[in-house]
This record gives sequence, C-alpha cells and structure tokens, in this order.
Amino acid sequence: MDTQRLIPTPEEVGLFYDRMGEVLAPLLGGTIHYGYWLGPDDNSSFAEAAERLTDVMIEKLDVGPGKLVLDLGCGMGKPAVRLARETGAMIIGISVSANDVEKANELARSEGLTDLVSFQRADAMDLPFPAESFDAVWALESMLHMPDRQHVLRQVSRVLRPGGQLVLSDIFQRMPVSEESWPVLDHLLATWKVTSLADLDDYPRMVRAADLETRQLINVSEHTKYSFARMAEVFREAAPRPAARMEFMNNAVGSWQPQAETAKVGYLIMVANRMESGTLA
Ligand code: SAH
Repeated sequence: MDTQRLIPTPEEVGLFYDRMGEVLAPLLGGTIHYGYWLGPDDNSSFAEAAERLTDVMIEKLDVGPGKLVLDLGCGMGKPAVRLARETGAMIIGISVSANDVEKANELARSEGLTDLVSFQRADAMDLPFPAESFDAVWALESMLHMPDRQHVLRQVSRVLRPGGQLVLSDIFQRMPVSEESWPVLDHLLATWKVTSLADLDDYPRMVRAADLETRQLINVSEHTKYSFARMAEVFREAAPRPAARMEFMNNAVGSWQPQAETAKVGYLIMVANRMESGTLA
C-alpha cells in the first residue's frame, strides 16, 4: 500500500547513498541491507548476519562461469564481489549513487576481480542495456527505493534473455497499520528514502504483468525481524565515533525505538523467470 508521503526520486536516493554509504557500510559490515538471523538465540554480529543474507540470495541464483548478471542497486559492491567469487559469473552492478559506483569499482580492483565485476551509474527505472542482454538480474534490497516497482519489473524483463532469472528481496507491509501509527512508520520510511512498502500478495501479479513467472515467493520476516534492534545497537556503540555523530543517526535511531512499528515491516525474497515468449522485448 502506498502512503501519503512524498516519494523520493532516484536522484534523491542517489544523493542519500552518496552521503550515507560510507557511514553505514562500515558499521553494517560493508553491505547496506538487513541481516538474516537463524532465530532468537542467534548471536551473530550484524556483519555476520548481513553476509548470511547475501549468501541466501546467492543460493537462489542459478548462474555460473560465462553467465552475465545485472546487480540492480549494487551499493558499495560487496555483494557482487561475493557473488562473483562464489559462482564465477560476470556481474555488472548499477547504482544511482556516484559514490557507490566509485567505491564498488575500487573494491573490484582491490580484490583483483575487474575481469568479472564492474559497476556503473544507472537508474533501474531506465536501464541503459539492450534487450535480452543478461542471464539474470539480482536486486538485493533495492526495489524499496524505486518509484514504481511494476515499471522496474518491466525494465528487468526487457533486459533478461528468455528464461533468464530474477532474484530480488524487498520489504513489505506485514500487517495492518492503524491510522495513528502511520506517522511513525512514515518517518522510518522517509528517513531511509523508501518509496513505499510492497504488497506481498500482489507480487505475483506484478511479476506476471512483466512477462515473468514467479517460482518462489518467501516471507523471511522471522529471520530479518531482528535487524532494526541489532542495527540500533551497532549505532549506539558507534555513536562516539566522529563519522557516526551525524544528525542522521539521531533521526534514524529515533525511528527505530518503536519496535512494535518495525514489526509491521516484513521481508520477502522472490525468484522468477522471464517467460520464453514474452511481449515486452
Ligand atoms: N545491494 C546492496 C545495496 C543495497 S542499498 C547491498 O545489499 O549492500 C540500495 C541500493 O539501491 C543503493 O546502492 C542505491 O543507490 C540503489 N538504488 C536505489 N534506487 C535505485 C535506482 N532507481 N536505480 C539504481 N539503483 C538504485
């Protein structure tokens, strides 16, 4: 369900990551996404849980050497580098943040992986790639910033070869939110430049309307629900560090306090394939 907030543009999202990427990534273990915990007794650090989520997403991708993957919303490149190492596939990562792209390319160089991994600035709403040019598209926690999920899915479908695979993760509205609760949730979403929460039940319809076929749609909220509390801990511990002493931190940690609200935001993983005979290409 869309809320009444002003929807951030891709440019604004890019500027947000230009400004925040280098503050957030070191605190969160190099990636900028939720973590994946095995249960309430899982004492993994945020970084370990974040890496586990990357691995869960890698396991869903059916690619290997000689395949080309588009990493849609690549952040600072850590997930793509891990994906290349694990699978041997070639990866082109895109982000609307110029700083993301610079840092991600630096990481690929320092890891000696420039033959497999490269990054460029591009908007998922308007992909600058020819039709049917990728074997797979991987969108690890980036759809939530995009103004129109349906439009992005059509873009993805266009650049996928017939039969090509899409693996994405996204956040969705997990339970009804009362009228008086929306301002708190809105504040949380606005702080993170999230355009809207997805509708889990509506995903298969959106996917089909883009000539893609849903293979798996998994609600992993029970594994990700610890993220906000753990992230708040990481931020509190880091507060004395100068880089962390930013107005954003206070704002964001403030948003995390109402834990009851954050439980309303679920997390999904979706796997789909481009239909063999689509109409979009
Ligand atoms: N996948 C990375 C980063 C997730 S943060 C990781 O897991 O670490 C979200 C990323 O999506 C950021 O890099 C942001 O710049 C990118 N993004 C958001 N909107 C985008 C858009 N319209 N087009 C391309 N990238 C976008």
